[in-house]
Amino acid sequence: MDGRFAPSPSADLHLGNLRTALLSWLAARAQGSAWRLRIDDLDTGRSRPDIAARQLQDLALLGLTHDGDVPTQSARTARYAEAFGQLQRSGMVYPCFCTRAEIREASSAPHGAPTAGYPGTCRDLTPAQRAERAAEGRPPAWRFRSDPEPVRIEDMVLGPQTLPAEDAVLRRADGEFGYQLAVVLDDADQGVQEVVRGADLLSSVATQRQLQDHLALPRTAYAHVPLMVGPDGVRLAKRHGAATLHDVLQGRCELALPGLTCGQPASPEQLRGALAASAGLVPAGSTPSLLELTQQFSYARLPGQSTMMQRCS
Ligand code: GLU
Repeated sequence: MDGRFAPSPSADLHLGNLRTALLSWLAARAQGSAWRLRIDDLDTGRSRPDIAARQLQDLALLGLTHDGDVPTQSARTARYAEAFGQLQRSGMVYPCFCTRAEIREASSAPHGAPTAGYPGTCRDLTPAQRAERAAEGRPPAWRFRSDPEPVRIEDMVLGPQTLPAEDAVLRRADGEFGYQLAVVLDDADQGVQEVVRGADLLSSVATQRQLQDHLALPRTAYAHVPLMVGPDGVRLAKRHGAATLHDVLQGRCELALPGLTCGQPASPEQLRGALAASAGLVPAGSTPSLLELTQQFSYARLPGQSTMMQRCS
């Protein structure tokens, strides 16, 4: 089943992103399938073409060859608009006039802990209420009218999952389209059949599956792979220190990787081996070829939990 990797070009790929890319590549190549790339630059304010170019270079340095061209979401607005119109005509979206602050307030449980998702404030407004709010002049965002029935999937890594969908914003008040809409169209148009990505995106599955069904797109299979987390247990990010491919090549990576010595430059092959070792695929310190890694790959070998990274001391 054809796979893909779809980085957001707002920051250079860090070790966690690189490992997810490697696992996604291996999953596709182990089946003899195609592997696609896409630049998820929907968030135009935070996306930078120079970062996108470096992301592609980094993947190439690791040997992760891709098939076909590399679409960018920012060039696909017409496609998103067409599908959005289809959903609008079939009553699957509704205008939402809430501000962020109102959503935060309405979704706070009495004890102060926010409940997941949007509380549905604007879901069932009457036409008169809608007209009244529209007359106030604030343009609405448009939300998906999700089905309250949870979605069941068999995740290739995590096993059976029962997940609720969300009334995700499919078109923002400023006219930009939302991630959930874009991603299902992108995957369908690129022929992606198996979505391999970080476990932090598991909560998007139900919304994406319902959107696929409403838009009559093929259903994708899912494999949510374990994340790398910092010493604080939180998803790896810039604040955990230097941890890009070039930091590793130049010996200034601040996170310790299995088989690599902190402060010493490593080659792309060594980094690849270290990423594979951190996912339990090979012993630490080995530098397997991509062919060897492909032959050994199986979802069953991936760890059941996030990989906690330690800082170089
Ligand atoms: N662009 C998203 C990200 O970088 C990934 C989207 C996806 O894999 O569905 O987090």
